[in-house]
Amino acid sequence: MMRLPKFSYRTPREISDAVKIMGDTGPEGQFVAGGTDLYPNMKRRQQMPRTVISVMRLPELNQISGDGEAGIRIGASVTLTDIVEHPLINRDYPVVAHAARTISTPLLRNMGTIGGNLLLDTRCNYYDQNYEWRKGINFCLKKDGDICWVAPGSSKCWAVQSSDLVPVMVAIGAKLRFASTLGERVIDAAGLYNDDGIDYLHKRPDELLVDIHLPPTNGWRASYQKLRRRGAFDFPVLGVAAWVQLDHAGSVSDARLVLGGIAPSPLEVKEAGQALIGQPLGRAGIEAAAEATYVRARPLDNTDFVMNWRKQMTREYTLRALQELADTR
Ligand SMILES: Cc1cc2nc3c(=O)[nH]c(=O)nc-3n(C[C@H](O)[C@H](O)[C@H](O)COP(=O)(O)OP(=O)(O)OC[C@H]3O[C@@H](n4cnc5c(N)ncnc54)[C@H](O)[C@@H]3O)c2cc1C
Ligand code: SF4
Repeated sequence: MMRLPKFSYRTPREISDAVKIMGDTGPEGQFVAGGTDLYPNMKRRQQMPRTVISVMRLPELNQISGDGEAGIRIGASVTLTDIVEHPLINRDYPVVAHAARTISTPLLRNMGTIGGNLLLDTRCNYYDQNYEWRKGINFCLKKDGDICWVAPGSSKCWAVQSSDLVPVMVAIGAKLRFASTLGERVIDAAGLYNDDGIDYLHKRPDELLVDIHLPPTNGWRASYQKLRRRGAFDFPVLGVAAWVQLDHAGSVSDARLVLGGIAPSPLEVKEAGQALIGQPLGRAGIEAAAEATYVRARPLDNTDFVMNWRKQMTREYTLRALQELADTR
């Protein structure tokens, strides 16, 4: 049985206390929400904080407010179950409720939060193993080693961004608010992710994710398609988030296609969005967009399924995501 290492556990009740504890603790501290990612990582000795600071008792992080007209604010500690079941999110942002519903299992969704999901560690077959397994291959670049087993000539880690909500948040243009002892900042979700499996976030470790702002639903719609082995529970090995804005005449005025599960960061395929703009959402545009995502997708051999097949599925899953939008007009 894998055991957690020893650590001290703090439960602040105010944001100011949480960021102060983190500031005082320095690099040995780490925030935890539901712990469904952090605790397994600690058991595998991939992350080793000496002080773990819970964000679950910060009232501001546990609230949902607003609606589709004004935009919705979701606190970072809101659980995935609460998102799946929230009436306004289901009514005004069904894509968010749908993507959250595809994450892991009901039990894990009861514990796991939206904040933890957006800050999830990157994943790789050579990394998501216990300590002894990783020691057996002399570890790898991401933790304790000096070689990448996926691309041995590479100085970069290719571990995969594997959250279902990340491509959705990037596609719909969500904004994220962070707090630290230095103050607050708000960034676009797209600006958070870095294309490096080790240094995968443009965020300092001491920054607390406070909340997520979903934009008003003024004429846009979005969908999400997830590829995984088991429909009941598995990380995405490809996720396609599609977002389109329609003008009054019913033509696409703007569009974004964002791929998850194939690279260290979510990948927006701008050519795919361009292929849709200026015409109603019809078969020709959809097929051109699907071809564009297929061309840009370059999955590596470090998750489930054969990588060439995952690349081919990018075309198919883009077709499905866009056809769903066309069918619900
Ligand atoms: C068996 C299994 C299957 C899974 N399947 C999926 C899946 O299909 N899709 C998917 O997307 N995920 C999946 N997950 C991953 C995980 O359960 C979810 O992503 C979950 O939402 C993580 O949330 P959490 O609150 O438990 O995160 P935690 O483990 O608490 O935290 C994750 C990371 O975020 C940081 N963090 C958390 N909250 C904050 C905050 N407010 N401010 C700053 N840092 C913070 C932590 O320090 C940590 O680095 C799975 C996990 C397991 C164990
Ligand atoms: S991509 Fe390479 S360095 Fe990164 S976790 Fe996998 S084997 Fe390790």
